[in-house]
Amino acid sequence: MVSLTLQGITRKFGDVTAVDDVSLEITRGELFFLLGPSGCGKTTLLRLIAGFYAPDRGNILFDGQDVTRTPPHRRNTGMVFQNYALWPHMSVWENVAYGLGLRKVPSSEQKDRVSEALRMVRMDAYGERSPNQLSGGQQQRVALARALVIQPDVVLLDEPLSNLDARLRLEMRDEIRRIHDETGTTMIYVTHDQKEALSMADRMAVMDMGAVAQTGDPRSIYARPVSAFVADFIGETNFVAGRLTSAETPLSVETAVGVLHSTVEPAEGLSPGDEVVCSVRPEAIRVSEPDAAGGEEENVLDGVVRQTVYLGDHEQYSVRLDDGTLVKLVDHHPGRRRAGPGAPIRLKCDASQVVVLGKPG
Ligand code: ATP
Repeated sequence: MVSLTLQGITRKFGDVTAVDDVSLEITRGELFFLLGPSGCGKTTLLRLIAGFYAPDRGNILFDGQDVTRTPPHRRNTGMVFQNYALWPHMSVWENVAYGLGLRKVPSSEQKDRVSEALRMVRMDAYGERSPNQLSGGQQQRVALARALVIQPDVVLLDEPLSNLDARLRLEMRDEIRRIHDETGTTMIYVTHDQKEALSMADRMAVMDMGAVAQTGDPRSIYARPVSAFVADFIGETNFVAGRLTSAETPLSVETAVGVLHSTVEPAEGLSPGDEVVCSVRPEAIRVSEPDAAGGEEENVLDGVVRQTVYLGDHEQYSVRLDDGTLVKLVDHHPGRRRAGPGAPIRLKCDASQVVVLGKPG
């Protein structure tokens, strides 16, 4: 396993800047995600790491060694693709052994290593089968075994679960995490599925238009997004627009529906008078009980219930605030419906759950 350093990587295709000045540090043994919407450059970045493309600018280092000009077959990376890319005319065993043959590994060692790789992905009973006799999930396990058997320094996974149905995707998330933990190999995993990234990643880079918008572990990115793009892309959120009136913590934002306070340190430099948006997660908003003890109420939003959806373990509310802004919230203890469609409702949120962000351009 290796650490990876990307220094100012840029790659253009004609007029399109697919990867734009990306710098990242990925530590040894990390399960690191590149996450972002379609076209943000994550596959191009993975291919640059594999060596299939050369960057126009910047350097790629494996364990501090510059590999920017090293051809792919000298980088010792294992690839796993969305479409599995198994050889249809070879058995499962032969598919996994193929890379060892290329590397001239002696046949007795090949046998041990293929057995071990198939055991690792729980496919040891399927060595004689042909790939077209396997389910999609099984084929992806074989593709993983084929990547692991060469004992790569880093495994690169490009949307590996996209072709699987929802249930198998969930199962394979746990499997890949387990295999990662068992092997300790550095893995870089590309996906546009934020739930995959949140549930599996040690750390992730959220990408937008070729650039890294934010790097961090799942919890910090969810709780402290640095931009409206990240807040919106990772999980669900509500945006309430306003103008910053105090940039000292607690921050104050004047909105069309009242003043919102935030005790979250802003990521970027904001000044009083700036147009901003307040990001508040649905689970951070609660219904204010009308008979709650008096006193000055902070961070209150008044509106009218538009819709409620009861889902057993929780209930979703959609509320139209007095200025027309739609807000979603989640009640995790839906013993009773707090208000039905058309009813006025008062919402509250804690200042520690309000993240003030620069208004997107
Ligand atoms: P997806 O999730 O849809 O695969 P992505 O985030 O992986 O998207 P890339 O495939 O890296 O994005 O593409 C980034 C940008 O570069 C896109 O605008 C794409 O059209 C362009 N691009 C990628 N590969 C090439 C190529 N070989 N030739 C020309 N343009 C390309």
